[in-house]
Amino acid sequence: MDICVIGAGYVGLTTSAVLANFGHNVYCVEKESEKVEMLKRSKIPIFEPGLEEMVVENQRKERLAFTTDLSKAIEESSIIFVTVGTPASTDGSPNLSFLNKVVDELVPLIQSYKIIVIKSTVPLGTNERIHKELMERGVSPDLFDVVSNPEFLREGSAVHDMQYPDKIVIGVKSLRPIEQMQKLYQDIEAPSIITSLTGAEMIKYASNAFLAMKISFINEIARISEAYHVDITEVALGLGMDPRVGPYFLQAGLGYGGSCFPKDLCALEFLAKEKEITPHLLQATREVNETQIEQYMKKIRKEFPDLTNKKLTVWGAAFKPNTDDIRHSQAMKLIEQLAREGCHLHVYDPVVTVAMPHVTFYQSLYDSIDQTDGIIIATDWNQFKEADWSFIKEKMKGKIVIDCRNCIEPSRIKNNGLTYVGVARP
Ligand code: NAD
Repeated sequence: MDICVIGAGYVGLTTSAVLANFGHNVYCVEKESEKVEMLKRSKIPIFEPGLEEMVVENQRKERLAFTTDLSKAIEESSIIFVTVGTPASTDGSPNLSFLNKVVDELVPLIQSYKIIVIKSTVPLGTNERIHKELMERGVSPDLFDVVSNPEFLREGSAVHDMQYPDKIVIGVKSLRPIEQMQKLYQDIEAPSIITSLTGAEMIKYASNAFLAMKISFINEIARISEAYHVDITEVALGLGMDPRVGPYFLQAGLGYGGSCFPKDLCALEFLAKEKEITPHLLQATREVNETQIEQYMKKIRKEFPDLTNKKLTVWGAAFKPNTDDIRHSQAMKLIEQLAREGCHLHVYDPVVTVAMPHVTFYQSLYDSIDQTDGIIIATDWNQFKEADWSFIKEKMKGKIVIDCRNCIEPSRIKNNGLTYVGVARP
């Protein structure tokens, strides 16, 4: 099939590469010309495991092309994916300016039947509104269908997740586009859910809200467990064995971040309040998460009562492992707070480097610990779990390791004469 994907970010680039890999012809349209130039040279602007290889392979097979020229891509495609960002505005409401701009651009270009697939996460009612707007602006309803097809990939395993999703959600207004959508995804073995346009939007928000709630839930249980000297890893293990709960997203730590959970939770909270519904659980989920940084700052201040001029190592800046994304990263928030309190920070993240005052980013894990007073683990990259703690003991000045992700087995650190601080790990 001939497909146009609008936006070459985490979702758009992955969608383009995976659909091309399934044998479709894909035009990926990106408004930033520098990104397009990079992509034409097979250079990927983001870090996502396996993505670069897939892009290169499909460019070579001439199934994947990058362009800034929307009109040619639309003319040649029957299915148009919209994957532009929908960030939060300052009041928490979703900022739909990128999406609205795409709709403006599409109006004059729809000259033959197109399926417009909205993959971006959008507020309830947006797909219906787009359908109505296109008609009101003179596009014949015979020439288009709007489909809501939210994306559930996780950064860090985006390519895998898009090839092997646990479900495909397809929201429609009529039956007409369903066959084409099923044909498009015929190589993916996953159950599909056909629902209304707004139903699909809600499935996406509810999924992210539920997952965020699981994280805040275990973080709250960790606070209580710590007060009663209970090991939270054992609690999570026992809790997760119940199939009604499941074992995932039960690791206590610094909390969730990234470009999706925080803004999607805010959006749902906003949407609820617009209908005069008090979203108690959503508010509590956000409040627990927002106070996690301070919970860990307390632990850090306990170990280092005077943070002024302390030389500390922080491992991890990305919002989670295997990505370079630092949008709403809890690790970055912790780094900023420590810098504000006067620390000199040596930061190491396998793929992130940022220029900021009082912070030096290192290119090597072991260089980052030279003569520092302690290590703070802020993102649970595997590399940190496999570190050589006896070497670290020799190289570091201090002895404290504060594991803000509960990701290291405490005995590995203690057995090397270092002090381990996690949450609720007596
Ligand atoms: P992103 O910011 O990484 O990428 C968006 C891209 O769209 C950018 O490259 C931007 O330049 C481009 N763009 C904006 N307007 C354009 C236009 N008019 N024409 C062409 N290109 C344009 O965003 P993302 O992380 O890929 O997220 C996209 C959407 O998918 C969001 O709604 C997000 O909530 C949702 N989503 C993201 C993830 C994730 O893990 N990142 C997962 C599921 C869903």
